[in-house]
Amino acid sequence: MVFKPGSLFLILFLSGFTVCQSQETGKMMIVIIDGARYSETLGDPTHTYTPEMWSLTAQGTMVDHFTNDGITKTYRAIPALWAGAWTEVIDTIYQGSETQYAKLPSIFEYYRKQKNRPADDCFYILKYISSLWLPSFDPDYGPGFWPEFHSVGSTDEDVVTETQWVMDNYHPHFMWVYLADVDHAGHSGNWTTYTAAIRTADSIVGVLWQKLQSDPFYKDSTTLIVTNDHGRHDDQHGGFKGHGDGCEGCRHIQFLAVGPGIKKDFVSTTDRSIPDMAVTASSLLGIDPEKASGNIMHEIIDVTGIDEGVEPKFVLHGSYPNPFCSSTSINYYLREASQVYLQVFNLKGESITTLLNERQIPGEKSIKWDATNKRGQKVSPGVYSFTLHIGQQKTSGKLVFAGE
Ligand SMILES: [Zn+2]
Ligand SMILES: [Zn+2]
Repeated sequence: MVFKPGSLFLILFLSGFTVCQSQETGKMMIVIIDGARYSETLGDPTHTYTPEMWSLTAQGTMVDHFTNDGITKTYRAIPALWAGAWTEVIDTIYQGSETQYAKLPSIFEYYRKQKNRPADDCFYILKYISSLWLPSFDPDYGPGFWPEFHSVGSTDEDVVTETQWVMDNYHPHFMWVYLADVDHAGHSGNWTTYTAAIRTADSIVGVLWQKLQSDPFYKDSTTLIVTNDHGRHDDQHGGFKGHGDGCEGCRHIQFLAVGPGIKKDFVSTTDRSIPDMAVTASSLLGIDPEKASGNIMHEIIDVTGIDEGVEPKFVLHGSYPNPFCSSTSINYYLREASQVYLQVFNLKGESITTLLNERQIPGEKSIKWDATNKRGQKVSPGVYSFTLHIGQQKTSGKLVFAGE
């Protein structure tokens, strides 16, 4: 935005509501339920053990095809959830204890460095563990940007009590809540213990959502994401007692998101996997996870109403030639490094092809469409539209294919 000094007050006054809204949506709570199988959580059509999370799906988005596409073990999948990428973990000794750290930076480090936020704005809350796994020592990020770890108590109930205490006393913008009991209960081999732990985790999610709604600081400005690191063997591959291989039960996990920027009452069937979680959360937090490899889950983000009042990340120059015979180019200028997603639709709104889904560096861009669909076949002459998503921002335009 360009202001003349004299008009600054008036512009702020006129646009005050939208400016505040866009700045205030950037709060986030991520809850990880370790080792809950999809068939006992949101993948269970009866929702026997997860009534709270099921009721939240009406207010948000559930991703039906979310998977652990790497190693279905906690010590590898949790760092992947942090980093938005499958990262190496490296043995180390830290403050006298043997532990491991992640090679790639975490979403906490990106958040604290890029937003210039203190540690007590970014909490990681979990039950007591004698030696924590550590985020990265990346030279651009590292310990100076780690979250504030609160490792307390011995059960998931202790973790939720601590989380509420942290919310009341610090009001952090970013919280990561790690619930370990479901995995431990699964390894016990006792079905009743395992499903009881899922019920408890589910009720904790309900309590935390209510807490977010009851505090004006968080209400309507906080996204809640609930997911897990891995599932458990399906019944053909050893059952719920263990996990760690590539069976459907180990890979298929749940993903639930609720909040102001998330589509409501939506079940997404797009295939997504662990690295996409932190990258999507970063987009909602307004940060750039520059070393991550996941993609933003555009299909779950509600773009209505968030364009206004936000500094545009791009300038659309339109498409040329248009109408066109053999091919046309969609041209835009990108102001900052962003995840860019460009799709072409027909008049019925059906997706014809995806021209781009990648991170781009700033600069002038020109993306060609040769009037073919995703199978490479020429489409029929007519009117098409394109949608360009840049981070959370979106624009669209018409493309008229006159035929060759
Ligand atoms: Zn386990
Ligand atoms: Zn398995």
